[in-house]
Amino acid sequence: MQQLLTVLGSTGSIGVSTLDVVARHPQRFGVYALTANTQVDLLLQQCLVAEPVFAVMRDEACAEQLQQRLHEAGSATRVLAGEEGLEQVAAAPQAPVVMAAIVGSAGLAPTLAAVRAGKKVLLANKESLVMAGGLFMQAVAESGATLLPIDSEHNAIFQCMPESYSSLEAAGIRRILLTGSGGPFRQTPLSELASVTPDQACAHPNWSMGRKISVDSATMMNKGLEFIEACWLFGARPDQIEIVVHPQSVIHSMVEYADGSVLAQMGNPDMRTPIAHALAWPQRIESGVPSLDFHALARLDFEPPSFERFPGLRLSVEAAAAGGIMAAVLNAANEVAVEAFLAGRIGFTRIPAIIEEVLSATVNTEPRDLEWVKQVDLDARQRAASLLDR
Ligand code: NAD
Ligand code: MG
Repeated sequence: MQQLLTVLGSTGSIGVSTLDVVARHPQRFGVYALTANTQVDLLLQQCLVAEPVFAVMRDEACAEQLQQRLHEAGSATRVLAGEEGLEQVAAAPQAPVVMAAIVGSAGLAPTLAAVRAGKKVLLANKESLVMAGGLFMQAVAESGATLLPIDSEHNAIFQCMPESYSSLEAAGIRRILLTGSGGPFRQTPLSELASVTPDQACAHPNWSMGRKISVDSATMMNKGLEFIEACWLFGARPDQIEIVVHPQSVIHSMVEYADGSVLAQMGNPDMRTPIAHALAWPQRIESGVPSLDFHALARLDFEPPSFERFPGLRLSVEAAAAGGIMAAVLNAANEVAVEAFLAGRIGFTRIPAIIEEVLSATVNTEPRDLEWVKQVDLDARQRAASLLDR
């Protein structure tokens, strides 16, 4: 039988790759809903191909425009708007599978709505776990939702893990090795980092991604967010995860066991692999990703990460260890700083500096509910914004 899915953030890099995999298996998957922020043209085009029941635009004016144009094109897809629309299609019982691929904190509420509805949730939106990991994992446990990681590293770790385990120790796991390419500035002289441009930061050596996560990869804040994400997903303490820089992005992460065995998941750097893995799990399906060519590859390199070059890594590890609201504050300050960097308002090295300043002005607390987290997010954003023009 065909499985229906909702793709939150269908016009983004992950969303487009998801629709590519889905289109290869028309017997297996159908699309219930597609959502976007403001990209009317692309969402219209996607609706005409996938024929979802609903399309949601976060922006109300864009939603009206889309409805008009769908109508003119003779499409039966109905358009919803705003956050309510996103949460409605995320929780709708007609779609048992949800791809959570909105970027940033905007993804938290709709992703959590899908989790609370007990769905199979394919999690690309790492920011929601970073912001509210405790509440999020509690909601997964209570609703019986199935959480499958899409982030390539976490998907790799998931593939190298035993099927079920009560703790890493009980499963005989020594440590998780979280790999990262080091981004475009791994070898750039430190003195030049302050003046790199947004386009240079977004030119990732191995992956093609949205602009926010591309900047996060250049600061290695992406690896920092992933470190926090991995703690929540796998029930790991910070001292059980080691970050390894691996410039070729062929090994997507590893798990080391008590007997010294290290299991790695490898493949070409193409997000359709983790997407297809999670869509079909526990089965395997064609993703469109070509075979890894080991002869062309020739070598794999590894090196330790530099906290001096990438201060955001240290801040992330510290936030993971501190718990409470620190990771949510880190995430909010990062989003504000990255947006300002992309807009040409601040230099590259100001990104971690702003995050550090906001973190050091924060009194840590334990968040009780989603409203609490939203307020923390808002406060941290305001504080970060006030630092931009200094
Ligand atoms: P992107 O910028 O390409 O796309 C983001 C999507 O979210 C778009 O569809 C956009 O319309 C939507 N969106 C943006 N702001 C919104 C808002 N305020 N409300 C509702 N919708 C909004 O991003 P991406 O690269 O596809 O990344 C998506 C998520 O997946 C991120 O959390 C990222 O960290 C994660 N991720 C991405 C990759 C990758 O290869 N691109 C890999 C691992 C994890
Ligand atoms: Mg990743």
